[in-house]
Amino acid sequence: MRKRILLVTLLVSVLGLVLLTLLFSGMSYSRSAQAASGQLSVLMDMYAADHISAPLSDETAQALSAEMGGTRVTFLLADGTPVGDSEVPAAQLSSHAGREEVQAALRQGEGTAVRRSATLGKELVYYCRYFSQQGVLEGGGAAEGFLVRFSGEASSFFGVFTQALPTLIWLLLLDLLICLFVAWIATSFILQPVERLTQAAATAGNKPVRTEYPELMPIAKMMNEMNAEIGAQMAKMQEDHRMEKLVLNSMEHGIVIFRSEQDVLLINKPAMRLLDYEKNEPIACFTQDGEIASILAAGEPATVNRRLGEREYSLRFTFGDRANVLLITDVTELMAAARSKNDFIANVTHEMNTPLTSIRGFAELIGAGAIPPEKLPSVADTIIRQSDRLSNLIRSIINFSAIDADDLPDYEVDLSEVLRETAVNFEPSLRQKDIAFTLEVEGSVKVLSRRERLVEIVNNLVSNGIRYNKEGGRLQVKLTGGEEPALSVSDTGIGISKENQSRIFDRFYTVDKSHNGAGGGFGLGLATVKKLCRRAGWKLSVESEEGVGTTFTIRFCKKK
Ligand code: ADP
Repeated sequence: MRKRILLVTLLVSVLGLVLLTLLFSGMSYSRSAQAASGQLSVLMDMYAADHISAPLSDETAQALSAEMGGTRVTFLLADGTPVGDSEVPAAQLSSHAGREEVQAALRQGEGTAVRRSATLGKELVYYCRYFSQQGVLEGGGAAEGFLVRFSGEASSFFGVFTQALPTLIWLLLLDLLICLFVAWIATSFILQPVERLTQAAATAGNKPVRTEYPELMPIAKMMNEMNAEIGAQMAKMQEDHRMEKLVLNSMEHGIVIFRSEQDVLLINKPAMRLLDYEKNEPIACFTQDGEIASILAAGEPATVNRRLGEREYSLRFTFGDRANVLLITDVTELMAAARSKNDFIANVTHEMNTPLTSIRGFAELIGAGAIPPEKLPSVADTIIRQSDRLSNLIRSIINFSAIDADDLPDYEVDLSEVLRETAVNFEPSLRQKDIAFTLEVEGSVKVLSRRERLVEIVNNLVSNGIRYNKEGGRLQVKLTGGEEPALSVSDTGIGISKENQSRIFDRFYTVDKSHNGAGGGFGLGLATVKKLCRRAGWKLSVESEEGVGTTFTIRFCKKK
C-alpha cells in the first residue's frame, strides 16, 4: 500500500515536471520568436527611414545585412519574385509568393513566420513588410510597391528544450527526493488510522473494533461482522469437536485411528484404558504382540480376540489410504454365549446318549437271543423307562428353549389359585415319601404373567422340594401378597452346599450326577425357573444349609 502510494506520487510528480518543462520550453520558444520578430521590426523601421531609396538588389541586401549584424535581407516584388538577397543571388531563388510572412504582409502590411529555411537549413524568424512606394530596381527600372523581408536565427523548440535539460535533470532529482520524503510522511500520516484499525482488529478478540474516521467505518463494520461470523464458526467448531470427543469417549467401544504404532492420530478414552496407552508413546501391543504386528505389516483387514484385563475383546483392524482404524469391542458376553451354546449342545448330546446306549444295548441282546425269556419283562421295563427318560429330556429341552421364543402377552394370574390346584398333583409323591406339606396362601394374590409359566415354576420348585427331601420331612409353600408378593418353597431336605448354591441355576447342573434322569431330573428345572424369573423381572434367591434344608424365594417385583 505504502509502496503503491509512493510510486503513484513519484510518477505524478515526474510527469508534472516533464510537462512543466515542455510547457516552459514552448513558452520560451514562442517568446524568443516574438523577441526576434520584434528586433527585425525595429531594423525594418531603420531601413524604412534610411535606406528605402536604395536599389533593390543583391548588393544592397548584402550591405544592409552587414550593417544589421548578419540579418538576412530579401527584396521581393509585389508578386513575390525575389529581386535581391543577402545570402543567395536572387536570380537563383524561386517565387516567395506562397510564403506565410509574404502573404500576411501583402494582406495587412506586415507578416511574421517562424520556420526552417530550406535554403539555409536553419530555424529562422521571418519578418516581412510591404512598402507601397516605388522601388528602384537594379537595371534602372522601377517597381510599383515592393516587399522587404528580414530573417534572423531563432532558437528551435528542441534547442530550448536541450538547453533546459540539465536544469530539468537536477530539478527532477530534487523533485524525486522531496517527493519521496513528502510522500513517505504523507503515507505514514494517511495510513496510520488504517494501521491502527488493522492492529485493533488483530488484538480485539471478541470485542468490536472502532474508528473515528468516517471513511474507515464501513471497513470497521465489515471487520466486526467478519469477526462475529468467525467467532460463531469457531464456537460451532469447538462445540462440534467437544461433542465428537464426548461421543468418542463415552462409547463403550475403543477406537484408535493411527498411521503407524508411533503415529496415533486419535484414540478415545476406552481404548487408552484398554491398551494401557499414555500420550506420545507407541502402542505397546502393536509391537509386542506378534500376531498384531504381522497384521499391521500385512495391511489387510483382520480381527483378533484378546483378553484385556477382566474381559474379552475383539480387535478389528482396517486399513485406509490416509489412516488405519482399530475398533475394540467387548465380546465377553458374545463369547460366553457361544461357549454356553457349545456346552449346551455337548450336554444335550451327553444326556441323550445314556438312555440311547442302554436301549440299543438291550435291543441287541434281545435280537441275539441273549436274554432268557423270564427276564424279558424286566428288560422291556428298562427299555420303557429309558425311552421315558429320553422323551422327558427332549420335553425339558423344548420347554427350556421355548421360553426365549415366548412373546405371548401377560395377564393377571391368580397365583393363590394356581398353587392350590397344583398342590393336588403332588399328593402321591408326598405320600410316597411321607412328607408333611403345608400351603400358606394369602387370599387371592395376583401376578402379571401367564398361567403356564407360573405352573412351570411351581412344579419345578415343589418337585425339587419333594425329590431332595428326606423321608418324613416337611415341605412348606408360602405366598404373601401386598405391594411385592413373594412365594417361598422351603423343605427340610438334604440342602445345598455354599459352593453349589451359585451353580444350581446353570443348565444341566446337578449336584449329584448319580441321580441324573431319575424322576426326570436333568439339571434344567432351576435353569428354567431362573430364565422365567429373569424375563419377568422377578427376584429369585436361595437359602440353604446342608443337611437342614433349602428355601427358594421369588419376589414378584413390578416391572418399571
Ligand atoms: P434337576 O432336574 O436335576 O432337579 P434342577 O435344575 O431342578 O435340576 O436342580 C439342579 C440341582 O440343584 C439338582 O440336581 C439338585 O442337586 C439341586 N437342588 C435343586 N433343588 C434342591 C432342593 N430343594 N434341595 C437340595 N438340592 C436341590
